[in-house]
Amino acid sequence: MRRYPKPGDIALVVALLVPLVVALPRLGWPGAEGAGAWLGWIGRTTGILGLAMLLLAAAVSIRLPGMDRWFGGLARLWHLHHWLGFGAFILVMIHALALGLAAVSLSLEVAVVTLFPPLSHAAVWFGWLAWLAMVIFLAPTFDFFGRPHYQRWKRLHLVSAAALVLGLGHALLLAGETALWWLLGLAGLAAIAWRKLVSPRVARHAYRIETVTPLARGVVELVLAPEGKGIEHEAGQFVYLTPLDETLTAGHGEEHPYTIASAPGDARLRIGIKDLGDASHALLGVTPGTRVLVEGPYGEFYGRRFPERDRLWLGGGIGITPFVGGAREIAERGLAGGRVHLVYLANGPDRAYYLDELEAIGARVEGFTVTPHFYRELGPLTEAFLREHCSDFTEREIYLCGPPAMNAFLKRLLADQGIPASRLHSEVFDFL
Ligand SMILES: Cc1cc2nc3c(=O)[nH]c(=O)nc-3n(C[C@H](O)[C@H](O)[C@H](O)COP(=O)(O)OP(=O)(O)OC[C@H]3O[C@@H](n4cnc5c(N)ncnc54)[C@H](O)[C@@H]3O)c2cc1C
Repeated sequence: MRRYPKPGDIALVVALLVPLVVALPRLGWPGAEGAGAWLGWIGRTTGILGLAMLLLAAAVSIRLPGMDRWFGGLARLWHLHHWLGFGAFILVMIHALALGLAAVSLSLEVAVVTLFPPLSHAAVWFGWLAWLAMVIFLAPTFDFFGRPHYQRWKRLHLVSAAALVLGLGHALLLAGETALWWLLGLAGLAAIAWRKLVSPRVARHAYRIETVTPLARGVVELVLAPEGKGIEHEAGQFVYLTPLDETLTAGHGEEHPYTIASAPGDARLRIGIKDLGDASHALLGVTPGTRVLVEGPYGEFYGRRFPERDRLWLGGGIGITPFVGGAREIAERGLAGGRVHLVYLANGPDRAYYLDELEAIGARVEGFTVTPHFYRELGPLTEAFLREHCSDFTEREIYLCGPPAMNAFLKRLLADQGIPASRLHSEVFDFL
């Protein structure tokens, strides 16, 4: 079984290649003209591709509920956004280097003037300023600088709008064909304007926190009731939650992604929250009755992948929440398709927050089985444990969600059993 490209992937590749294809007749083919001509050609093509990538990276950051599914969910779309931005940066570096080296083949003086002409050559200086803006907003993403503070990094990302405008100025002054650049530029800038200015005002739904139920140390479940028309979701999807409680010690007015743990069709949203940082810690003490804004839903953890097949769900820590939503759906609507076996990975019974409810659903619904695995008693999950409790696990569609280290461990364990990556579906609660 193969993973097929999503419709959004194909649209992205087309949008990326069109500016290059349109420009190719103007760029010509260096053929046997020598190294200098080739370097000039490489410099120009990488410039075109690099700018197209930068503008598309901005365009795909638009975040519209439903649109992320064209790309396989928002987490995957963020990875595409990340790689487009990174690819743009590398291509822009090659662009400048290749054009400089092409000019060196004439003379060093020509090379210096090509790269650093008098200030009146606005096009080139727009290019350098765009590059500088890219360095500023991309630098914190490189591991070299350590892990960036998420909210500071997001604010710094606004500099990308300057890179877009300057890069566009560079292209419009130099390129023969401007209509496409206008189109891509507008798509990128419109996406940023939507995210920062329009969406916070029109795309968020008001909810009120009804209850805050402690589930374990550092873990609560919030129940949110819609004030007006709420959202409709599928199991395993997530929302961006913005608390408006001004008495919170952190995270007031900040949006954070959380999985919806309630069954689809339930107008109230249930959200399990674990203390993983300052904003989530503050939410543990949020006052019932206060308001939050909810944007979404996003993601397609379960997607529409072969519901008729038997499934194995492996959930650990707070990564159990998409499976809680899935189990609550099964409790209300019964099993739609194959059997489901949930292995709940927790350090011990005290950390298996939802186990009682999940086991009660397992006792009621035939074909839905729940097996806890406690790390403190049994150590890491093994193939033998899986085979003992779910003998046909290698034949099933497998869904994983947990901390990054757990996901990586499970993927290795399952790959060692010869399970192809195409049958593993995973979500990591981390976008960077
Ligand atoms: C798809 C998805 C679903 C999630 N579902 C749940 C859930 O059901 N329950 C739960 O407790 N947690 C969930 N999380 C994790 C939750 O979003 C983070 O714990 C929370 O944002 C941390 O913020 P903080 O300020 O408390 O901690 P910080 O110290 O700021 O961050 C801790 C970690 O969370 C990441 N993070 C912080 N802010 C964001 C953000 N706005 N977007 C993406 N990542 C961020 C950081 O990269 C860091 O790795 C989910 C995350 C994702 C991506």
